[in-house]
Parts: sequence; C-alpha cells; structure tokens
Amino acid sequence: MNFVYGPIPSRQLGQSFGIDLVPFKTCNWNCVYCQLGRSVPLTNQRQAYVPREDVLAEIQHVLDTSASGEIDWITFAGSGEPTLHSDIGWLIRQVKMLTNCPVAVITNGSLLHLSEVRRDLAAADAVMPTLNAGNEAMYRRICRPWAILTFDRLREGLIAFRRKYDGLLWVEVVLIKGLNDSTEELQSLATVLQQIKPDQIHINLPLRPPSEAWVQPPNKDALQQAIAILGDVAHVIPPTTESLHLVDKTSVVKTIIDVIKRHPMCEDELIYSLGQCSLEQIEQTLEALAESGQAQVVNRDGSRFWSASAAHYPEHTNYV
Ligand code: SF4
Repeated sequence: MNFVYGPIPSRQLGQSFGIDLVPFKTCNWNCVYCQLGRSVPLTNQRQAYVPREDVLAEIQHVLDTSASGEIDWITFAGSGEPTLHSDIGWLIRQVKMLTNCPVAVITNGSLLHLSEVRRDLAAADAVMPTLNAGNEAMYRRICRPWAILTFDRLREGLIAFRRKYDGLLWVEVVLIKGLNDSTEELQSLATVLQQIKPDQIHINLPLRPPSEAWVQPPNKDALQQAIAILGDVAHVIPPTTESLHLVDKTSVVKTIIDVIKRHPMCEDELIYSLGQCSLEQIEQTLEALAESGQAQVVNRDGSRFWSASAAHYPEHTNYV
C-alpha cells in the first residue's frame, strides 16, 4: 500500500483510515509547528501527484478486506496539503459511491479561495481547515505560506466555502505560546471565526515534534482564555489514548512506517500499540524500525518520537 495508511485513532474521527495524495512533504505552508518538519521546498503547484486510479484501487482493497465497524472515517490528509492534488474532488466522489463511511478532509484551507477547490471538497462529510490567526502578520509568522496566499484569500475562501457547504465545518486552531495566545491575537482570531461560522472550533496544541524547536503550547491560563474568547463551539482536543490499530499483523514494521510518515508517534504510544506482542517482538520491531533507514527518532521535551527519516527538523539535530 502506498497511498493509504492506518486506521489511526483520532479524538474527532475515531478510527480514521488515512488517504495520502501527495509525496512527502508537499505543502504550500511551512508551519512553525508542523509535525512533519519543514516544507522543503515549498510548493503551490496543483497537479495529479499520484495516479488517482491507483489510489482508488487501494481504497477499494481496504474497504473489501476491512471488518464492519473497523473504520469510522475515511480521511484525506497525510504527507502535506491534500488539496494540492488536482483530482481530490474526483476521489472524494468515487469514495462516496463505494461506501457509506463518512469522508473527512484535513486541509490548511489555503486554496479554498479557488472555486474549483470549493467544488472539490463539497462532497465531503466533514472539512477541517486550519485558522491560526486573525490577521496577515500573525498568519505569516505561524504558517509561513507561499507568497501569493494572503490572509485575505484564506479568510475569503473559508467564508465562501461555508456559505454553500452544508457538511460539518470544523476549524482547527493551533495555539502557540507567545504567538497567537495573547488577548489581542485571540480577539482578532475570534472576529474572523465569527465571520466564517464553523460548526466547531478544535483547539490543538503543538505537542508532537514541531519543525521549529522553540514552539511551545500555551500555559493553562492562556488556554482557558482562548476557550473563553473563541466561544461556545471551541474546545480543546486532548491527545487520544487509543492505541494504533495494527490491522496487518504480518508486517507490523511496514504498518508503523506508513503511519509515522504521516503522523509521528511517541515511543510510548508505539509500545502501547504493540501491546499484544511479546517484549521480544517489541524490541525487534523498534530495532527493525531504526535499521530500516525510513525512520528517525526526534527528542521532544524528554519524549522520544518516531518520525519519517525524510522529515527536516533542523533545530532538533543535536537532540537526536
Ligand atoms: S501543518 Fe499542515 S499546512 Fe502546515 S506545513 Fe504541515 S502539512 Fe503544511
């Protein structure tokens, strides 16, 4: 399998089966908190990065071989920004014809100013765009977007999408200590969110290894203030305590590599996920991961995280 992974447990989406439409790491933003490391190089090219028929064949295979109830959501996310793939709309519509399982798209929302991208995402059951700032200056400091992707375009794209979209619009806000957690920045963000009118606001904290080592989550008081300012539909998304569902027990290492390429995992989470294995098997798995050349360990606040070896974490190099 090249384009599908998981399912991985998610607070919002239960057992979420991932679909990855772009090579590692293809993004038009270079967020300071990105768990996949820096976007090198940054790109805003919309194209068919991978053949859509191949992706669909893998999805069909997983649906054919999964037990009922094994997958809660099918989620377009992965190694970068999924709307950069020009066939995402076609794929969402095909998946909707194959299954009753709901479809989500985790996107930065930067291309929603394009009418064709709004049309592409219209068939999804939930769209989860990101909004971390209420003004251009803070947006540029946090998201470091491709030059022409201005804050006005982001805001107007989100408002235009909401106007016609009748699915679930869940906006993700990543709060960073010293950047967007001040009263002033939160009020500016709240003003824009009121214009967008999302169904929910999911506050996320940068707990996994960020592309810039100085990134920290806000303290408790700032978090409380954020919930108060962002309003009733805002709530904090705590890390899930569910373990990774290892569907294919014959190739555990490959399954884990497929996940950590899109979603770095803390070593404790990884060991918990391998709970049905013996201590010897767990040790062998970690050893095989280290030797595969496809994974790296990044230390973050005293925890060891497993991530793709291709991820760029320049500030972390002396910790590894
Ligand atoms: S967090 Fe998402 S939008 Fe930001 S750089 Fe990473 S993949 Fe791109």
